[in-house]
Amino acid sequence: MTGEIETFDVIILGGGPAGLSAAIFAGRAMLKTAVIEQGLPGGQLLNTEMIEDYPGFERIAGFELAQKMESHARKYGAQILTERATAIRRNDDLFEVETSEGHHLGRTVILSAGGSAVKLGIPGEEEFAGRGVSYCAVCDGAFFQDQIVAVVGGGDSAVEEANFLTRFASKVYLIHRRDNFRAQQILQDRVLNNPKIEILLNTVVDEVNGTDEMTALKVRTLLTGAVKELSASGLFISIGFRPNSSLVTDHAAHDPRGYLFTNEQMETSIPGLFAAGDVRAQFAGQITNAVSDGTVAAMSAKKYVKRISNGR
Ligand code: NAP
Repeated sequence: MTGEIETFDVIILGGGPAGLSAAIFAGRAMLKTAVIEQGLPGGQLLNTEMIEDYPGFERIAGFELAQKMESHARKYGAQILTERATAIRRNDDLFEVETSEGHHLGRTVILSAGGSAVKLGIPGEEEFAGRGVSYCAVCDGAFFQDQIVAVVGGGDSAVEEANFLTRFASKVYLIHRRDNFRAQQILQDRVLNNPKIEILLNTVVDEVNGTDEMTALKVRTLLTGAVKELSASGLFISIGFRPNSSLVTDHAAHDPRGYLFTNEQMETSIPGLFAAGDVRAQFAGQITNAVSDGTVAAMSAKKYVKRISNGR
């Protein structure tokens, strides 16, 4: 069977900044490298309009940085396969990765599959998804020209999205469940100084209402329990995400939310399986951290491949 299936030195699952950086370094190390990515390479870069904290680029569109990373990875020989990984099995000293299109064999696997948006789990959220409810302001914000929208969350993403949405919306509510934000101060200052943004602290959204499209939100102030209805045609839910690690969590050590534990070499508890970026429990959260994780994972994969090759 293995004769018919291509064997890679490194199979990278997920083509965000961590995966593409791993591909660049693996390719430069002359490892036969595949990146399996079900959508466009770029990961969360594609949901970020403008990046202002990536060294060397004072301002670069997320889409453009994604394209640059992809072409850089291709330049060093990485194959980028548009497939969805569905299972990973260990056969002797090879990993077999099953995908929507077939099977691939890898001497090592780097899991850099990122995460998926967390849902609020409130009535109306699912019903109005795509008809007012969104998880990506950069993708959907322009649909809300001169309309009232709300953003839920208190992290960097929510605060950035609220600011971004003021380009289109006539008014943006930023709704956070506590009395202070966890977002970086520089981002908080931007929303505090933006006259189009009204901040509702200690407040939660209980319900999304509408008919064909969303028209209103039911919100509750936690301090008093008072409930009121806000007219809004968009709700951007930005409350974090969960790691896409389910392909390996039956075997690899992870925390209760599914984030994989690694050592500083990005080694998981399974020899030959490395993790990088948002799937990793100790991940520090920024694009630069993802790039670093991917770099370290590729170097570790190189050492591992050399070790098993010498052992044969
Ligand atoms: P995050 O930092 O985990 O923040 C999630 C926010 O959602 C928190 O404020 C949290 O409230 C709130 N939340 C969670 N569950 C909720 C619920 N059920 N109902 C209401 N609110 C809820 O996530 P993130 O903002 O997506 O950021 C993820 C990582 O990416 C972070 O490390 C961040 O620094 C990084 N990031 C960086 C940038 C940048 O540097 N420009 C941009 C975007 C993201 P509590 O505060 O009460 O927990």
